[in-house]
Amino acid sequence: MLTQNSSFFDAAKKVLVGGVNSPVRSFSSVEGDPVFVKKGNGSRFIGENGQSYIDYVLSWGPLIFGHAHPEILSFIQSTIADGTSFGAPTVLETRLANLVIEFFPSIEKIRFVNSGTEAAMSAIRLARGYTGKPYIVKFEGCYHGHVSSLLVSAGSGALTHGQPDSLGVLKEEVSHTLLAEYNNGEQVEDLFRRYGDKIAGIIVEPVAGNMGVVLPKDGFLETLRSLTTRYGACLIFDEVMTGFRAGIQGAQHVYGIKPDITILGKVIGGGLPCGAYGASKEIMACVSPEGGVYQAGTLSGNPVTMAAGIATLEKLKNETHIFESIEEKTKLLLNGLRKVIEKTNLPFKTHSVGTMFSLFFTDRAIENLSDVKKAQSIDFKKFYRRVLEKGVYLAPSPFESGFMSAAHSVADIEQTIDAIYYGVSDF
Ligand SMILES: *Cc1c(COP(=O)(O)O)cnc(C)c1O
Repeated sequence: MLTQNSSFFDAAKKVLVGGVNSPVRSFSSVEGDPVFVKKGNGSRFIGENGQSYIDYVLSWGPLIFGHAHPEILSFIQSTIADGTSFGAPTVLETRLANLVIEFFPSIEKIRFVNSGTEAAMSAIRLARGYTGKPYIVKFEGCYHGHVSSLLVSAGSGALTHGQPDSLGVLKEEVSHTLLAEYNNGEQVEDLFRRYGDKIAGIIVEPVAGNMGVVLPKDGFLETLRSLTTRYGACLIFDEVMTGFRAGIQGAQHVYGIKPDITILGKVIGGGLPCGAYGASKEIMACVSPEGGVYQAGTLSGNPVTMAAGIATLEKLKNETHIFESIEEKTKLLLNGLRKVIEKTNLPFKTHSVGTMFSLFFTDRAIENLSDVKKAQSIDFKKFYRRVLEKGVYLAPSPFESGFMSAAHSVADIEQTIDAIYYGVSDF
């Protein structure tokens, strides 16, 4: 099955780096060739190999209504018929801004950009511009896009200046990034004791989703909130993944913590390229043209992306039971998985919040990146291929979250449970 895509992959590799436009798509962590997608519909897509797959990647989170949802497509189509971009204001931007603000009361004003990366980059610039301070605290295992100064995670240990994770990132670029372990409030307190008057902000995934789903421990987010308040730094929640996923109003509502700056992406773009950052009027007044923090974008807030976002968020707003039903389906899947995996002797854990989930093969608690790294007691490649063979498309890496959509049916979930049971039954 994995080899049926070889000719497509070979042709792609001749002209695209690694055959892909984003590294994890290359299947490098599971080996074999990636599935080339022909078309999607609802919970499934069909590969160029003709096989149908139940999709739990959903373009890495955005497709909360599944693939090719007719209402979302139709609004995109009617909008695109009048032009794709003007570089001048349209009323659609105000409409999407109002929708986001209704869901996120911590946001009074918002700026749309084209990706989560761009939003994170702009948000830390804003925190520095607003506070006039240089340092940013980030956590090991949290991902905020490929922003140079945030491409630092493990390896250098907490409480030290970070070392770059990527070639081409200068030491100078990460010299104002302070690293701490996720869920370790004491390390953050220590950083504030040492650098407190120089810290512009803390950037954090309020529920970590880019090392699998790792939940914040009781008191962790509270500690971040109280330290930033005490030292006059910004608390930046990167809710690119958790916004409209951990809860319909994001992790900030689920955990009852109000950040100063929120970063969004993924679901708010309805499947088209989009990111956003928002905050109080006072903080956002620092952004150009109102203030001195420069940030711009040729295609930012283009009508096609806005239409996709509006159609998605209006559906979530008007059909209030939908989000709950996606959460219920996430629970149904995990309950089913627990029942079948318990039949094997494999140690495992399921983590979930809202409509995102993870399966770890360990019996130890998972609270941070080093726990996650130790959590693979099975051969993930073999597990992954067996599940894929049964027509279930999970993220091709053990360190990624899974996502549920409104389009997934109970029958899909039952097929998935069977496929995963098949996946684990040979260890
Ligand atoms: C996906 C993601 C990003 C990056 O978004 P892109 O649109 O891929 O640039 C940033 N932060 C978090 C938490 C994400 O999950």
